[in-house]
Amino acid sequence: QTPQTGRLYQFKLVLLGESAVGKSSLVLRFVKDQFDDYRESTIGAAFLTQTIGLDNNTTVKFEIWDTAGQERYKSLAPMYYRNANCAVVVYDITQASSLEKAKSWVKELQRQADPNIVIALAGNKSDLSARRVIDTEEAKAYADDTGLLFFETSAKTATNVNELFTSIARKMPLDQ
Ligand code: GDP
Repeated sequence: QTPQTGRLYQFKLVLLGESAVGKSSLVLRFVKDQFDDYRESTIGAAFLTQTIGLDNNTTVKFEIWDTAGQERYKSLAPMYYRNANCAVVVYDITQASSLEKAKSWVKELQRQADPNIVIALAGNKSDLSARRVIDTEEAKAYADDTGLLFFETSAKTATNVNELFTSIARKMPLDQ
């Protein structure tokens, strides 16, 4: 193991989005490089950490809060995003309702969360392109207009999952 050099930055990251869009799966892919077709739903929220080396001198550690998407847990969300430094708002490219839900989470974050929060929009399940209902360019235009990072991801094939978290890490305030 290489000794830790340089600086370690820690950030609190929250995942938000409609139920079953793949929030837990994205975290499982990022943290353990695994995928499970038959995952049980998250109850309340789950906590995991993962570290990214940005360069020889900079390590970013994310404390990841994976929230349950079900409506009955919605009242818990502010507890998780209130102190969050960054958020990943997830939709499913095969579910039109999930982008509407993602937009409502973004609005809530912009009103209620830390004004400096870094927000990324993730269009997940990009492997299911035959069932796509949400156009990439349309979602990208919304993300650009709203100041969000944007990636289409697949927790199943691992496409863009590390890229998503790494680009968040790079956008965080790191004093160089
Ligand atoms: P959550 O409720 O948002 O945390 O969603 P889950 O992570 O529990 O995923 C819901 C379902 O979608 C599960 O059956 C996953 O296996 C599946 N799933 C998650 N991500 C992907 C993906 O990128 N591609 C495909 N094909 N299925 C996925």
